[in-house]
Amino acid sequence: MTTPFGTLNPSPRLLLGPGPSQISPRVLRACATPLLGYLDPEYLALMDETQALLREVFETKNAWTFCAPGTGMAGMEAAFINALEPGDEVLICVQGAFGERMVEIARRLGAKVTRVDTEWGRATQPEQVAEALRTARPKVVALVHAETSTGVLQPLEEIARLAHEAGALFLVDCVTSLGGMPVRADAVGMDIAYSGTQKCLGAPPSLAPMTFSPAAVEAYHARKAPVPSFYLDAGQFWRYWGPERAYHQTGMITMIYALREALLEVHEEGLAARSARHRRNQRALIAGLEAMGLTLLVPDPTWRLPSLTTVLVPEGVEDKAVRGALLEKYGIEIGGGLGRLAGRGGRGGRGGFGASG
Ligand SMILES: *Cc1c(COP(=O)(O)O)cnc(C)c1O
Repeated sequence: MTTPFGTLNPSPRLLLGPGPSQISPRVLRACATPLLGYLDPEYLALMDETQALLREVFETKNAWTFCAPGTGMAGMEAAFINALEPGDEVLICVQGAFGERMVEIARRLGAKVTRVDTEWGRATQPEQVAEALRTARPKVVALVHAETSTGVLQPLEEIARLAHEAGALFLVDCVTSLGGMPVRADAVGMDIAYSGTQKCLGAPPSLAPMTFSPAAVEAYHARKAPVPSFYLDAGQFWRYWGPERAYHQTGMITMIYALREALLEVHEEGLAARSARHRRNQRALIAGLEAMGLTLLVPDPTWRLPSLTTVLVPEGVEDKAVRGALLEKYGIEIGGGLGRLAGRGGRGGRGGFGASG
């Protein structure tokens, strides 16, 4: 049969933007593997392996470690909807577009939001959080580990300590850090952390790995009302991913194949080596950018996210035209500025597989 749509045949691309990133032939092959049923013992064994590998990459012993169906935003939504009830207080550190989204989600849930704002391109300082905690009594303190819109890597330990001292749960967005660098969920003291598969993990988009500490599970069970979203209810995820194996939604079969393969690649390379690779590639990229006379958005090198580099677009240069030319002439994708940085920042260089930096 001939169709008016022709054959599926996308042009070759080198994906160096903020995501999706390049995936390996091995992960691609996993996507073309025949389906199993969602309760097939062979599939359940693959789920268990995926869960073990997720615990390894998060560096956690948390039982509640699984994937929410959907991209990173489903992880963000699930994290907040499971942690907060209407009227609950939440303190959110905002230093970029994804912090802004946390605020929006928490507000829609009817939570009372205290913001701690930091100039975009910089990291939140523990003193700012300590100051806010003098008056705020949040149930949750939330922030983004790797703010993809600015390229800032947020130090976490001190803020985690302050959150716990205030009796709050510590909720962290690890979408652009998980798989690219150690996130050390247990050592840092993360209570709820979520990620996405298509960034540093090097799998296609549409799963959101998540983990809940025992304290977060306890808070979940102490809710006054059930989670208002049935689909994103973490307790329901656990009923399928845990020993009960109860039907909640159809297993994400093909995506689990792909994620398991991508996690095996992380396991084989090792988190330390992977993180060092990003740092090394980033040094080379920055040397080249600086030689061209370009300025980076993040002034302090210790705050630069190794897996993503942000460049200020020079006066008189149209970023859209540069990105268009890179794509058309070389098949290379990089990202444009997001939110407040639209038209001002170019973002490049995530990589699970192949080039990055
Ligand atoms: C990409 C990203 C998200 C959202 O993930 P999607 O997969 O686009 O839904 C959330 N937080 C951060 C920090 C991100 O980089």
